Amino acid sequence: MTVTHEVTNQAPPLTGFSTADEPALWEALRRDGGAWGEPEVAALGALAGSAEVQDQARWAEQQPPRLHTHDRYGHRVDEVEFHPAWHQLMATAVEHGLHAAPWGDGRPGAHLVRAAKFYVWSQAEAGHGCPVSMTYAAVPALRAAPELAAHYEPLLTARHYDPGLRPPLTKRGLIAGMSMTEKQGGSDVRANTTAAVPAGDGSYRLTGHKWFTSAPMSDVFLALAQAPEGLTCFLVPRVLPDGTRNGMHLMRLKDKLGNRSNASSEIEYADAVAWPVGAPGRGVRTIVEMVNMTRLDCVLGSAAGMRAGLRQALHHTAHRRAFGRELDRQPLMRAVLADLAVESEAATVLGLRLAAAVDRSQAGDAGEAALRRLALAAGKYWVCKRGSGHAAEALECLGGNGYVEDSGMPRLYREAPLLSIWEGSGNVAALDVLRALSREPAALDAYFAEVDAAAGADRRLDAAVAGVRKLLGGLGDPDRAQLMARSLAERLALVLQGSLLVRYSTPAVADAFCASRLDGEWGHAFGTLPPGADLTGVLARARTVPDAA
Ligand SMILES: Cc1cc2nc3c(=O)[nH]c(=O)nc-3n(C[C@H](O)[C@H](O)[C@H](O)COP(=O)(O)OP(=O)(O)OC[C@H]3O[C@@H](n4cnc5c(N)ncnc54)[C@H](O)[C@@H]3O)c2cc1C
Repeated sequence: MTVTHEVTNQAPPLTGFSTADEPALWEALRRDGGAWGEPEVAALGALAGSAEVQDQARWAEQQPPRLHTHDRYGHRVDEVEFHPAWHQLMATAVEHGLHAAPWGDGRPGAHLVRAAKFYVWSQAEAGHGCPVSMTYAAVPALRAAPELAAHYEPLLTARHYDPGLRPPLTKRGLIAGMSMTEKQGGSDVRANTTAAVPAGDGSYRLTGHKWFTSAPMSDVFLALAQAPEGLTCFLVPRVLPDGTRNGMHLMRLKDKLGNRSNASSEIEYADAVAWPVGAPGRGVRTIVEMVNMTRLDCVLGSAAGMRAGLRQALHHTAHRRAFGRELDRQPLMRAVLADLAVESEAATVLGLRLAAAVDRSQAGDAGEAALRRLALAAGKYWVCKRGSGHAAEALECLGGNGYVEDSGMPRLYREAPLLSIWEGSGNVAALDVLRALSREPAALDAYFAEVDAAAGADRRLDAAVAGVRKLLGGLGDPDRAQLMARSLAERLALVLQGSLLVRYSTPAVADAFCASRLDGEWGHAFGTLPPGADLTGVLARARTVPDAA
């Protein structure tokens, strides 16, 4: 009898691992004051790689949220129903303090530890990272209204996930959303037309539409609307203090490429009660505090996606044989894997460095605040831009299996472009680099102080730093500068990544990065590291599971 279903040469399932299996993560925690968070990071990493959470992630995506606009009697309800797995993921994230907890935690390194946890946990499922991130990000903006912050901040930072639409101040914990984008403008929020009319008691009434508002079951939103004084930031609750629903009608959920577990809605404000946050007319300045934090999470989320893809690629190629030996023993596949590993570590080390800068700037370090201003814009541009290509290449390492949903790779691939689009699409992030340079000269000094800490360690890095200075000198008039904005943002990010790897990673990784990304010998696809690169050293580092994990 012919055996047709004997399974051979397939990789075993990848489960029961830790997503904290990366030396660069632990090194950053120890270096930048986050060592106290190691046990929590380790526990969360192990949970994220467990079969139970992998199932939750699969269910949350395969059973996407459903909108209910009306009840059976025709009353508006404007509710979104999620699979229980979504709530389980949210509860774990909030209980581990991935949302706003660091703002209520006085320990040095609180933002770094939170970043490490966000990084390991979002490798399990990225969609629910959206409301988690927005809740994290809402607090610094809300502080522009101290009276509101006094009431809401303790609930935004509380480690209780308390879903359901009830008056916010009666709940044990709150989730926050962001409501800026309108049909006629997302990047250009000054084009917003939603009107805010003073009600005479300090509150306003909002009327208008929002073309994208994710996580519409959040308890409160920071929204932009046109007050008589100009564009203003407002706090808008879903449910009013007397228990009635605020005037926020959910019109539709977006049918999205990815990010399917998360609901992204079109909403209409109909006389919605709102309280101003920050000075009327200074809405952009207020909400940018929120956007800066979500941008950090875009960098961390992209780095997390890269690490998740790399892990799958390493696993598959270690088990799959072709042409007589395992794929990961074939020289060209080793070159691809090593290149993916270099990119992944460069993204991780930059994301965690930015999180450390948040800690230090919160503690009053002006230099770190200035560094963050420029490096975050460049990092948002470059790391998020690299995410899609990295996901595609990691997927391809699995061959046809990588294109099939069961592998989990399509989910990573679909998610990647989003992190580049929202919170400032590629061009907007690159233009923000120019803005930082023109408005905050201290940012450039802080940037060079950071990269010069590695001066003399690698001639290619030294040359690349000199190249950045030359590029800056040639920016010229504003139109010419715009044409160079992407090149500049890319170069700033690459040089910073290179300096961090030279200082903190292994010689193999640092050398492979500098020889490729900084020295011009690199091709345009992954897998084109120069022939002298120490592939064995890079792959040994990528496969090292730190004891703590
Ligand atoms: C899944 C998803 C969820 C979202 N959730 C939310 C949410 O919760 N809340 C919210 O407020 N928004 C949300 N958004 C909206 C998102 O922030 C915007 O889509 C994004 O900021 C881009 O705005 P836009 O779509 O209007 O595109 P546009 O602003 O029209 O931009 C289109 C393109 O033009 C480029 N561009 C813009 N200005 C310039 C310029 N001056 N020079 C050169 N190029 C330029 C952009 O980089 C982009 O590539 C979400 C989007 C998605 C996809």
